[in-house]
Amino acid sequence: MQEASRFLTALSKDGGFRLILTDATGVVEKMRTIHNTSRTMTAALGRSAIACSIMGKLLKEEGGSVTLRIEGDGPAGRIICVADCEGNVRACCDEPGVELAPNDKGKLDVGGAVGRKGSLYVVRDLGFGEPYVGYSPLVSGEIAEDVTEYYTVSEQTPSVCALGVRVNPDGSVKGAGGYLLQLMPGADERITPILQANIDFMPSLSQLIAEGKSLEEIAGEIYGLVEFEVLETAEAAYRCTCAKEKYAAALVSLGSGELKKLREEDGGAEIICQFCNTRYYFDAADLDELIARAEARAAAAEEEEESP
Ligand SMILES: [Zn+2]
Repeated sequence: MQEASRFLTALSKDGGFRLILTDATGVVEKMRTIHNTSRTMTAALGRSAIACSIMGKLLKEEGGSVTLRIEGDGPAGRIICVADCEGNVRACCDEPGVELAPNDKGKLDVGGAVGRKGSLYVVRDLGFGEPYVGYSPLVSGEIAEDVTEYYTVSEQTPSVCALGVRVNPDGSVKGAGGYLLQLMPGADERITPILQANIDFMPSLSQLIAEGKSLEEIAGEIYGLVEFEVLETAEAAYRCTCAKEKYAAALVSLGSGELKKLREEDGGAEIICQFCNTRYYFDAADLDELIARAEARAAAAEEEEESP
């Protein structure tokens, strides 16, 4: 299986309806192996990661990033996903091992794991200025409905979001993907019910992907008789941006007192990245250097305070 996810962006010929569609099978499988997710959480975290990667694709700013944070009252705890403007994504959650019985439709019980009450936050960092924070309450905890609600209410862009993760009996990912269909300003609203009917009658997205349908074919199912053109096809990956220096900076911000304690009590510090499980070890010599950096920073701050 290829590790990359594939994206297709298509616009109806009249410019009124934009579709961003992704086959994220490889990315969700990679996520599953990193976090060793249960079947239920492969679906819950997978759907969230797919939604976030689509939100990333919507960013116009190069160097921008989007964080999707879902805080439901279910046993999964907090879910955090981060994507860049190419749709590269990373994801983590508090309880990746939560397993629930299938829901009354026989499906993986994502809403039960996430919780049906709670909050969805979208933080867009454009790389300059204050990040933009959007919020909407959870509708069902099934993620797609919650994202639809977010776009329709918080962003005032009528949208339909679908997200699907199909899991094999051995727990691996058989097919995973999602799309966001958005009504653009000035769209011919008579087309909306036509697209809605197409969506209602098509098989589930994860099934189409598991059957090997191409993104072009799936876009054809969604648009049906509505003419459209493909604007872009692209690839993205499960990608973490962590580095030892980022964690070094975080340690420095603890201050020299805390760092000295770590050096004395543990002789070092180990940090494991919550998004990719990479282990970073800071030995005694590393900590000495960080202590010096923390002290230099404190001294500089003091000097600033003293100067008029
Ligand atoms: Zn990482």
